[in-house]
Amino acid sequence: MSLPKDNRCRLMNGYEKKLALMTREQMGEEEYQRIRVLTGNMKRIADLMTCIPGAIEEFEEDTGAFLEKHGLDMLDPDEMRLIFLSENNDYKAELFRSPDVLNRISESMFRYVQFTQNKLVFRDYLRDKGCVPANRKVAVWRERNNRRCDGALGGVNLSFIHATLTIELAEGCSVGCDFCGLGAGRLKKVFRYNDGNAELFAGVLKVLHEVLGDSAGFGMMYFATEPLDNPDYEKFEDIFFNEFGILPQITTAVFDRDIERTRRLVHELDEKRGFIHRFSLRSLEMAQKALAEFTPEELVNVELITQYEESPYFLPYTVVGSEIENKDKRRRTRENAGLIDEALARTLDAPLLNNEIKRLKKLKYVDPGTICCVDGFRVNMCRKTISILTPCHQTPEYPNGISETEEVIFNDAEDLRNKIFMLIEKYMPESVPSDEVLKLYDYLRLEDTEQGKALVSEISGYVLPIGNYDKKADKENRPNIAVKVVEKLLEGKYNKNELVRSVMEEDNAAPENVYWMINQMWKQGLIVDSGFF
Ligand code: SF4
Repeated sequence: MSLPKDNRCRLMNGYEKKLALMTREQMGEEEYQRIRVLTGNMKRIADLMTCIPGAIEEFEEDTGAFLEKHGLDMLDPDEMRLIFLSENNDYKAELFRSPDVLNRISESMFRYVQFTQNKLVFRDYLRDKGCVPANRKVAVWRERNNRRCDGALGGVNLSFIHATLTIELAEGCSVGCDFCGLGAGRLKKVFRYNDGNAELFAGVLKVLHEVLGDSAGFGMMYFATEPLDNPDYEKFEDIFFNEFGILPQITTAVFDRDIERTRRLVHELDEKRGFIHRFSLRSLEMAQKALAEFTPEELVNVELITQYEESPYFLPYTVVGSEIENKDKRRRTRENAGLIDEALARTLDAPLLNNEIKRLKKLKYVDPGTICCVDGFRVNMCRKTISILTPCHQTPEYPNGISETEEVIFNDAEDLRNKIFMLIEKYMPESVPSDEVLKLYDYLRLEDTEQGKALVSEISGYVLPIGNYDKKADKENRPNIAVKVVEKLLEGKYNKNELVRSVMEEDNAAPENVYWMINQMWKQGLIVDSGFF
């Protein structure tokens, strides 16, 4: 495939190609900062397109004028058109499949794609490795719930890191966003810094580090709270950094409350070991302010989340948190799916995101019905409480898109350790409970599909072929044990031993095969976890 007709991109020279293979330390600070500015300027194009109505059209009509208007004239218009216009997607896809891609692209294209890919790679690393907790029972529970979320939330689950820890430094929130997905109440109390609270906080982190391992370091210090409501946030952040060597990510809906404070937090990301922060933009004016107050390189590691309808990339699934009748919500979810797919196709048109698109095709990308990406412990420092929570699709019973255990009070760090283990024992069984009736989640249906008998989620369209669990059934001309087990689970009448006995008697199945099959359904998060649902 040849270059698009109007392409006059300058390809990487030898020096730039050498740099492409170097780390920050190897290339030195001067080159690193130059590349940071280059990437920041390109990200600014994406930010403008995301935030400002009409920006996409302006860019398409006269790219040179667009770049000049926004002070981005260090960028080459031809290169930017190749990177940002979806009409070049096929060409870009071919380019990035080519083994000599480094000889065929400009430095800007390389750096922008590297930037967007690194984010996804790191997100996947967190989900699959970084956030895996040290404690085995917690790890097994988290994995089971991660699998459950494939069916309960759909393709969006791929972008949830399933963090094991969130710590609130306040009770309630002062902002009161109408899109709040967590039903935060009004601000009642803030956990202020003093010698006693600092010592308690350091002790709490130590215990959590011990139990959850380094995964706790990928947690955050806000949940149904606004991090900047706490005037001492930075002091607690120092304690967190001392414990884990990582800056916790923040999402703030009030970046503009004290711009210089926000700027210091943003700068820290580059100075210490930090990854991203996010600004929730509640209006077009707020978006314009963010773009005016912060330089493009300052916003390199800041994601702008547009929560206003004028945004070209505003997605309806951001509106969660209000109770909606269950069936109606599911219907709307399915209707929205087409719209969201289309928006995603636009969002994900960078060339190396093809893998992501392929994965999304397997799991339908729909309204997840939750904004919670924590599968683990919630600690509130004001109330001195700990609980376990897991994301789920919003329903009248779970209006905030989370299921949460009771909150247990702790007195000090030592007491917290006891309470965590108590909660683990009570809510995180490693294997299928023997003494309770087993049933599948009510959104799962057994259907005939192209892949044979399969469990299909009516929320997300997720399809899990069931017949494959007993591949020899057809050859041996006998009933498929997996399908039989699923049918019994759908009846929701039997405990584990009764279910095994029933399948054994009706289908002459070996008990060990039936037990194995039930365990598989459990591990896949298909059987209702009675501690949570
Ligand atoms: S979205 Fe965040 S800032 Fe807004 S009300 Fe909810 S917790 Fe507060």
